[in-house]
Formats: sequence, C-alpha cells, structure tokens
Amino acid sequence: MDIAILNSRVFTGDQTRPWAEGVYIKDGKVAAVGSTAEIQAMCTRGTRIFELPGRLVTPGIVDAHLHFVSFGLYLERVDLRDLSSIAACRERVRTAAAQKTAGDWIIGRGWNEHIWTDRREPSSKDLDDLAPNHPVMLVRCCGHTVWLNSMAMRLAGITRETVDAPGARIERDVSGHPIGLCREYRKIIEKVIPPPTLEERKAAALRAQAEALRYGVTGVHTCETLAEWDALAAAETEGQLRIRVHHTLPPEEVERAKARGIELGKGSDRLWFGQVKLFADGTLGSGTALLHAPYSDDPSQTGLECLTASEMQDRVEVAYRHGGDVAVHAIGDLATTNVLDAIAGARKKFPGPKRDRVEHVQLMHPADFARFRTMNVVASCQPVHLHTDMFVAEKKWGMDRCRYGYAWKSMLREGVKVQFGSDAPVEHINPLLSFHAAMARQNAAGEPANGWFPIERLTLEETIHAFTTVPAWTSRKEGQLGSLTPGKIADVTVFAQDLATLQPQELPVTQVELTMVGGEIGYRRE
Ligand SMILES: [Zn+2]
Repeated sequence: MDIAILNSRVFTGDQTRPWAEGVYIKDGKVAAVGSTAEIQAMCTRGTRIFELPGRLVTPGIVDAHLHFVSFGLYLERVDLRDLSSIAACRERVRTAAAQKTAGDWIIGRGWNEHIWTDRREPSSKDLDDLAPNHPVMLVRCCGHTVWLNSMAMRLAGITRETVDAPGARIERDVSGHPIGLCREYRKIIEKVIPPPTLEERKAAALRAQAEALRYGVTGVHTCETLAEWDALAAAETEGQLRIRVHHTLPPEEVERAKARGIELGKGSDRLWFGQVKLFADGTLGSGTALLHAPYSDDPSQTGLECLTASEMQDRVEVAYRHGGDVAVHAIGDLATTNVLDAIAGARKKFPGPKRDRVEHVQLMHPADFARFRTMNVVASCQPVHLHTDMFVAEKKWGMDRCRYGYAWKSMLREGVKVQFGSDAPVEHINPLLSFHAAMARQNAAGEPANGWFPIERLTLEETIHAFTTVPAWTSRKEGQLGSLTPGKIADVTVFAQDLATLQPQELPVTQVELTMVGGEIGYRRE
C-alpha cells in the first residue's frame, strides 16, 4: 500500500533537501519528499494518507549501542532504578521472593548507591534475611558491579579463599570475608545461573522489539552473542522480526558463527552480523575506566585494563581477517588511546576501508580527536549516561579532565563521526532521553541550570544525525538507510510533537506518533 505523510515538519537527513512537508512511500521505499502540494499530487485513491500537522518526521531512529535481548529479559526483572535507598531496594526484592519458587534466582538491575540516602555501598547483610531460599544477584546501574546475597555467593563459589579473577575484584571485610559486592565478576556468577532457553530469549527479543517500536526505534546495533542471534533468527524465520538488527559478536565466536554460515558484514535486511565487539576497560561508576592519569578521588588507581596491547590488536585482527570491522568498549581516555593504537597497528597488516567504532568514549584525551578523524573511526556514544554520570565524573576525574568528558560537540567540531544509542538495559531505550542529554546537558532535575559544559550542547539536527545517518554509515548501509531520500528504504519515525518547539525537559516525555519499518507500520499511538 502507498502511504503519504502530509502537512508535517519533515527532517530528511539529506543534505540536498534537509527539510520538507511531506513524504510519499511506495513499495516500502521513499518515493518522494516535498511540499504538501507535491506529495498530494502523487496520491491516488488507494493511498493511505496521514495528515500530521505539528509533528516531526525523521528518518527511522537507530539505537546504535544496546543489548537488545538482554533489554527484553530486563523488562521482566526486578527494577531498582531511581530508588533512593537500600530499604526501597529491599522492598522490591521481598516482593519478587514472594512470587518465585524456592531456589529460583532473583535478578535485579539498576541500583545506584550515589543516589541513595544511605550514603554507603550495600552488602549481603542487606539481603540475607529477605530471601534465604533464593540466590539473589542485583546488578548495579553500570552493569559491572553486582550485589549478592550469601546463597548466591555460595552457589558461585565465592568464599574467603577465592582469589580475585584477573581484572576483577571481590570486596572483602577486614578479615577477608567477601561482603557480597563484586566488581567485573558478573560473567563468573552468570555461569551458575541457568541460562534462559531459546524460547525465553525469543520472547525477550519480541518484548524488546515492542518497546523499541513504541519509542520510535526502527533499528538497533546490539552487542550480544550467538545465543541472542539465534533468538532473533528464530523470530525472523517465524516472520516476527520487524526491527532491523545490526548484531555484533565477541571475537571468540567469529569462527563458530562462520561455520554456521553467519559471516561478518552479511545477513538479511533485518538481521546481519555487523562487527566484532571487544572490551578495553571498565566503567566510570565502578572506578574501572582506564585513565592516562590517576583517579582524582583515589590517586592509587588508574582503572582496569581488560586486554594487553598485543591481545587487543590480535582480536582486532580477527575481525579484519574475516573482512569485518570492530566495535570496542572504551570509557577512560587511556582505553580510547589504546584502542586507536590497536586499530592503527592492525590496519597496517590489513589495509583497506574500515568502519570501526569506539563504544562510549566518555573521556577523551585532547590529542585523540584528530586521530578519530584521520582514522575515520566512529565515536559511538550514549548521551543518556550524562544524566547520572556528570557529577560522578567530576569527583572521579576532576573538572579539568571533564572538559573533554562526553564532549560530543568537540567531536563534531573536530570532524569526528558521532553516533548515539541508549546502552539499554543500562538505561531505558527511549531515544529522547539522549536527545535531552545531548541538547541540554542537564539531568532530569534540570541541573546544572545552563547545562554541564554547555559549550558541548548539540542542536536538534546534529542529534538526529547521530541517531540516523551515522549509524547507517557504520553499518555500511548508507545507500539504503539513514535518510529520507527517494529510493531508500522507508524507515520512518514520527514524534507526536515538533521537537524543535519544546523545552528541553519536555523531550523525554514526548510520545511517538508513528513508527514505520520498510513502509510498514510497527507502532501507532492510540
Ligand atoms: Zn553497552
């Protein structure tokens, strides 16, 4: 069916014609953009017409960094986000324990001691009386620190005698007993949690998809593993996958994927294997982001290095050898420098055009802006993190370094390609949370009044580009996706209000009117 959008504000993302009033969609593709009169002239009796005055139409929003199936699983987990005390977290765990059979794991997410009135980190003592027959693992908002009860520690084999795994840390009391707080230990604990079945993962993918479409997201770049790929592939086989998924995989899975016909840069138009995903360091909140100079609040620490320089380069070469590119997690400034070094080293051995990306880039060393540009590496950032991170960053990194923290405008000014995502389930998938953070640089309470380093604020157009044209380029799909250009696939997001007319604090609560993938309606506001 043909579709016409009329009388709207259309941001095309196409530099030859950035703004228009209408779009005509035929056979799942953009047939024309133009004035309302021009689009109206193309309509026939069978055209479905949407008159959308006061709305903002954009190319389909792509969330360029999240964990999609995990997000779907998370939607069913104990939600500890935004709670203001340990007591409030305990209440949620108590409710969950009452609903589960003995022995079942209780998994929660999103606690953040920085916003608690308790002013302390939690321990197993805060959980043991609540759920004596359930192992409990509560993941911090950063995803890297876990809070466990005694039963979970017992099942995971964490005792006084346990030696810290490399790059990880078990917090202990003065006598060496683990207190129920472990950093970078989640993978080890997850080994003893029964994994979700394929059916459960597929249900999670569909739950995540419904939520994504509701928030105007037509495509995602997901950082997960073959198990999640299988769930998405199963959904696609059953004709249930509507969103476009650019999938990354860890380097250890590249060979196994290939043996099954899943190759870098290949797939369907709904699900493809995009890049190899690596980790260079930890996070800001856990104090594990790798820094050039010591932490301001703890001069004995510079963070955790996940891989040595040669290990990192080896893994980058795995991607290049298979004809692909890499996406590397780097939050601290030294981690980013190390990633650029590894990429530069690997490219000497495997020349040719690459579309590599560094994930997060929360703190930049000023010397690295130019390297991003000359190496044409994408900075893949999640503005929404700023809401919770800015004051933590001031404390841990100090004001001088923070000048180049979350420095998206500087990146653009220096000619760096910048793309945006949510990092769901670390944050919610709603892209307008990141629009708000990128454009206002304030937290939900509107602080600081002029924005945090307001010189780094972005315009609406810059923010939309980071959610549309740039992720299309990163996926090597800029010929089909990323802008409303005649001939491209009709992935379209319609916001219920023209975002350009809103106050910053109104952005996160603005609804989506319509989400279209390939000219098919994936969501429509009631
Ligand atoms: Zn992530």
